[in-house]
Amino acid sequence: MQNDTAKDTNGCNIRHESQRTFKHFPKDIICPLCGTSEDKECCLVPIDGTDDDNGICEAEPMHVDCVTQLDMFRYNQEMGILYRKI
Ligand SMILES: [Zn+2]
Repeated sequence: MQNDTAKDTNGCNIRHESQRTFKHFPKDIICPLCGTSEDKECCLVPIDGTDDDNGICEAEPMHVDCVTQLDMFRYNQEMGILYRKI
């Protein structure tokens, strides 16, 4: 199932769990994970603490490749979060 998800990201706008991805990375923004604005597929990652009363929040573009870099993942059992170190 995970393999299918990875394949689906290729040239597709809807990802697993309906997360939108974009084919091009914004030229004027730097991905916080790799520090470049390389033009490749990206997604918008919601930023903690920016939610307003309408359920809308700020998000930052990050490369799909960077977000899914599995060897950078950590699991914090106590807080119940899966996260990627920057
Ligand atoms: Zn990146």
